[in-house]
Amino acid sequence: MSSSPLAIVTGAAEGIGWATAQQLAQAGWTVALFDMNGPRVAERARALGAQHSGWACDVTNADEVKARVSDVVAQHGRIDGLVNNAGIADQTAPTLQQDIQAFDQVLAVHLRGAFLMSQQVIAQMVQQPRDAHGNRGALVNIGSIASFGGIPGRNAYCAAKAGVLGMTRALASEWARQGIRVNAVAPGYVKTALVASLVDRGAIDAQAIARRTPMGRMAAPKEIAQVIAFLASPMASYITGAVLPVDGGWTALG
Ligand code: NDP
Repeated sequence: MSSSPLAIVTGAAEGIGWATAQQLAQAGWTVALFDMNGPRVAERARALGAQHSGWACDVTNADEVKARVSDVVAQHGRIDGLVNNAGIADQTAPTLQQDIQAFDQVLAVHLRGAFLMSQQVIAQMVQQPRDAHGNRGALVNIGSIASFGGIPGRNAYCAAKAGVLGMTRALASEWARQGIRVNAVAPGYVKTALVASLVDRGAIDAQAIARRTPMGRMAAPKEIAQVIAFLASPMASYITGAVLPVDGGWTALG
């Protein structure tokens, strides 16, 4: 078993998750990459190096989550960080045309998935020794500018992302005394496949987003990953229950 800290990143095959896995690996973490797409995530883990591992895991499936987290513990002996990143774009439909199964799926991936992962990982972290600050581990959840503002036609996504902040604060309050920190980042628009799919469907307009963003552009995935890695690290040892916007000034503008 390795002595480096271990982090699980969900949705790690693409976009922000993949950038986060790379960022954490560069900072000395061993990374367990979780994603729906088993072969793709195994390939990603191999590209990072031999100590990293890729696991097929649908975060909405309670049995799979339990089994994969316990596989990681069996292999590495402990878990120091969890990044609840797995996400899907919503159907982007007016309320009266919203397909209810699509609505449920968005809530399932962003909320049920993050909660199932958190349950299993906290159960492990709480058995681990405390570090010099009295901490045992850190969770980072991914909110969005949609956590704060309503976007017409994106009911499920806005509900899910507002919920992520509620869950972050509830878990942070519950587990602070046990030395488990729980924080969230709230990215603005980031150049990933998820955003490309919304642009392709005409659900969002890339140029309008650039105009509305004070910094005048979308983020690169690495610019979100760097902040996630900071919140997961001992550099953030006294931060819990925080939500950090990483949005080029979007929320500052109001
Ligand atoms: P991507 O679509 O690029 O990557 C998301 C990854 O999550 C994919 O690999 C996807 O796998 C995986 N995934 C989806 N569902 C599940 C599941 N049930 N279990 C495990 N893995 C799953 O998205 P982004 O990188 O853009 O988004 C990452 C997170 O950041 C999401 O939570 C998103 O809501 C959030 N976010 C993104 C923003 C942006 O502008 N891009 C802005 C604010 C927040 P597969 O492709 O096989 O479905």
